[in-house]
Amino acid sequence: MRQLIILGSGPAGLTAAIYAGRAHLAPLVIEGQEPGGQLTLTTLVENFPGFPEGIHGPELIGNLREQASRFGATFLTGSVERVELSQPPFRLTVEGTIEECQALIVATGASARLMGLPSERPLLGYGVSTCATCDGFFFQDQAVAIVGGGDSALEEALFLTKFARQVTVVHRRDKLRASKIMQDKVFANPKIDFAWDSVPEEILDVAQGKVTGLRLRNVKTGAITERALDGVFVAIGHIPNTAIFRGQLAMDEVGYLVTHDGSKTSVPGVFAAGDVQDHVYRQAITAAGSGCMAAIDAERYLDHGH
Ligand code: NAP
Repeated sequence: MRQLIILGSGPAGLTAAIYAGRAHLAPLVIEGQEPGGQLTLTTLVENFPGFPEGIHGPELIGNLREQASRFGATFLTGSVERVELSQPPFRLTVEGTIEECQALIVATGASARLMGLPSERPLLGYGVSTCATCDGFFFQDQAVAIVGGGDSALEEALFLTKFARQVTVVHRRDKLRASKIMQDKVFANPKIDFAWDSVPEEILDVAQGKVTGLRLRNVKTGAITERALDGVFVAIGHIPNTAIFRGQLAMDEVGYLVTHDGSKTSVPGVFAAGDVQDHVYRQAITAAGSGCMAAIDAERYLDHGH
């Protein structure tokens, strides 16, 4: 029986592991199907404090992992198939093996929803991005598109106009889903134009290893057009990785875990950190901060039972 298991190995899970390791809780970190999380899909991270020249996402994850190991965290790669959280000890089934713990930190993150085009994954980090806050800066004076018609897409379109010379919002309908106030701001911005009723057919050009354009299909007319572009941002929503907790931990209507009093979930002894419980900020540094909180909350729970 372990004192603490941490599910997830992004900045939230690994920061929790560093703090829990230093508290002599010898945490086991279970790395899921995407070890390192969304940071491993990015290139240069310029906004994580402490790295004046920036640091590559995978390198940052590698450093956090090494730091956690130094303080006694151990790692298990595998998917958790089943959890039993009705009371401690909590039981997890990981690829057929049972792991038990007194306290659990859930830091399973969220995955950016992708469009499912063959060209999308190979070009992630090479002109295709799921995070304008992270990567907008690299597109100074360039032409970019953002796919989606919700608040995220419009917020990111506005953010991108600080850098790009032209931002095209590609939306599959002729009406935006985003809030009215956001729509007003976007319509008033001369750098933003729209490709209505349009879905990307393919991002060009995998052969060149970079984005050179977008092939669009008009869903009403069937017309195919191509636009020359330097970057494509995908903002069609995120999916919190919480399917295995359904019916056991309180979550909102979209599936994000609900926390209270710091990192506490609806089950005493189970804590949540990072994007799995945050659809607002979604930054590596806020995830790391909430991982720290979860480790401190777990340590107190193990000491005092609440
Ligand atoms: P969202 O509201 O679910 O919008 C997703 C958008 O992507 C929709 O316009 C949808 O089109 C489109 N889409 C979905 N799947 C697609 C696909 N396969 N291909 C092409 N387009 C696709 O997601 P979100 O914008 O990330 O926002 C999530 C939540 O956070 C919302 O409640 C939002 O209000 C909130 N939020 C608020 C703020 C703010 O207030 N500042 C900022 C960001 C997010 P359809 O419209 O046709 O369905």
